[in-house]
Amino acid sequence: LWIALAAMLALGSVLLMHSIRRTRQANRLLARQSSVDPLTGAFNRRHAQGLLDHLQQPARRRATDTGQEVGTGLLMLDLDFFKHINDTWGHAAGDAVLVAVAQRLRGLLRHGDAIVRWGGEEFVLILHNTPASALPALARHVLHAIGDAPVRFADQPVPVTVSIGAVNFPARPGQGWEAALALADLALYQAKAGGRNQAFCLTRVSADADSARLARDLARASAAGDVDLEVIAGPVRVLPAIGEERVALSA
Ligand code: GH3
Ligand code: MG
Ligand code: MG
Repeated sequence: LWIALAAMLALGSVLLMHSIRRTRQANRLLARQSSVDPLTGAFNRRHAQGLLDHLQQPARRRATDTGQEVGTGLLMLDLDFFKHINDTWGHAAGDAVLVAVAQRLRGLLRHGDAIVRWGGEEFVLILHNTPASALPALARHVLHAIGDAPVRFADQPVPVTVSIGAVNFPARPGQGWEAALALADLALYQAKAGGRNQAFCLTRVSADADSARLARDLARASAAGDVDLEVIAGPVRVLPAIGEERVALSA
């Protein structure tokens, strides 16, 4: 009887361990599914918001405000003429481009940096411990990693370039991440309006710069000394350019 009881106990504990392991695996999968974009494997926006909230907790905020930490690099990327890619090569090619872009970005990041699919063809890079002065060189790497070689889809080369707005967070003491990303978005908008395939990097934002003036015109804000702006050009395209007529129209 004792032997039978011991055997049952052993079997019971093996089954229990197995079930605990299965539950843990299922939980990990669920956590991953709720934080990762299924197409590209990048973090989704919801997860990124949690990361950014964490970065502006009081201790981190104090460290950056007092200069003990150099802050976080925020690069907002938007693929150029992506609708044209979908329209020309098909939606599946567009999906393949998104996957390839995420892969190319992943190749650049350090452990602890995050790549986020912020929206349809928009990505945000969250780069820890990255001073504003490093943004232009980083943006240049990103422009080349994405734009140097076309993405191959169904044996066809699909040219892809990206426009970037880059800021350091916090760009000024006490700034929240939403305001920092709004600045990055503004810089990105200027990169688009200025011809695309380029990065607009805010390497300094004056503490008393007027937000409304910044939002109105970044180039003028730069001329007025509110910000330092560095523009980095992307790779020269060797393949026929796409969407040139749309550039002309929007100029
Ligand atoms: P711009 O250079 O000004 O950014 O032009 P754009 O064509 O890239 O931007 P627009 O906003 O006009 O078009 C974005 C397109 O991205 C429209 C949408 O159908 C497509 N898109 C969004 N999400 C996905 C996706 O998951 N897969 C594919 N294939 N296309 C997507
Ligand atoms: Mg877009
Ligand atoms: Mg786009």
